[in-house]
Amino acid sequence: MRYDIAIIGSGPAGLSAAINAKIRNKNIIVFGSSNLSEKVIKAPKVDNYLGLYGINGEDLKNSFKAHIEKMDIQITEERINNVYAMGEYFVITANEKMYEANSVILATGIEYTKPIKGEEEFVGKGVGYCATCDAALYKGKRVAIIGYNSEAEEEANFLMEIASKVYYIPMYNKDYNVNKDVDIIKDVPLEVKGDTVASKLILKNTVLDVDGIFFIKNSISPKYLVPGLEIENGHIKVDRNMKTNIAGCFAAGDCIGKPYQYIKAAGEGQVAALNAVSYLDKK
Ligand code: FAD
Repeated sequence: MRYDIAIIGSGPAGLSAAINAKIRNKNIIVFGSSNLSEKVIKAPKVDNYLGLYGINGEDLKNSFKAHIEKMDIQITEERINNVYAMGEYFVITANEKMYEANSVILATGIEYTKPIKGEEEFVGKGVGYCATCDAALYKGKRVAIIGYNSEAEEEANFLMEIASKVYYIPMYNKDYNVNKDVDIIKDVPLEVKGDTVASKLILKNTVLDVDGIFFIKNSISPKYLVPGLEIENGHIKVDRNMKTNIAGCFAAGDCIGKPYQYIKAAGEGQVAALNAVSYLDKK
């Protein structure tokens, strides 16, 4: 099945895009999480969302959820690894699964965590952002996973079935639901080192000799998500219509730039959806 619009992200930008695309009778798929957005649920008090003065993040999430449920919009709980522009349509991959859509709206938010030294230099050379996608390369090998959220635990458990050694470096405080053979290391990653490929992860208090290092973040950099996407100052470059440099690909919310705010994200989601609709209608 080919969707009219695939929306990647379930924060205010993605959900606002979804409701507007749905109002225009488009066949949509929204990728994200049932929690909608960590950046929504974590807000202690929101004073600047029109009509909802003083609301906390959890209640804001619940009101977003009630809205999409009333409009029969579901969230497909998948982490998208790549979006490929095929010319007339897009192929969207989530681990081994593939989806197709005639247009795409990127609403992935932004990862506030900066890459560590050497991380970007070794992408594709021992450094990756999706452990399950690349697991086959690490059969019998030593792998470190730096998890920025609890979803990374699943990736660590999956890799443990294949790799000889898995180090899990959690960047959050919670109970860790990982296989007993996974070595949990509470430390601060500082640098990736190696010659042609990454071979060492330097942490504040130790050094790990590894064959692969995965950074499992809330959002991966859009330049790795969508090959060929134009980036400007760390954000996706768009025009006033939220169009990116790739025909049929739009973007909205924190991923296109500051200020990082809910209402701006929601407004841009709407603009992106309406322009995706007019792009589809002209096709
Ligand atoms: P996000 O809300 O970050 O949502 C992006 C979504 O995309 C997430 O669900 C993520 O999991 C998903 N995603 C990312 N990559 C993928 C992928 N590859 N596949 C599938 N899904 C993916 N703003 C205000 O206006 N007022 C406030 O009071 C305020 N308080 C804040 C308090 C805190 C503690 C924080 C952290 C932020 C606060 N903000 C506030 C900022 C606000 O949270 C963000 O600007 C807003 O959430 C951005 O919305 P977004 O839709 O662009 O991205």
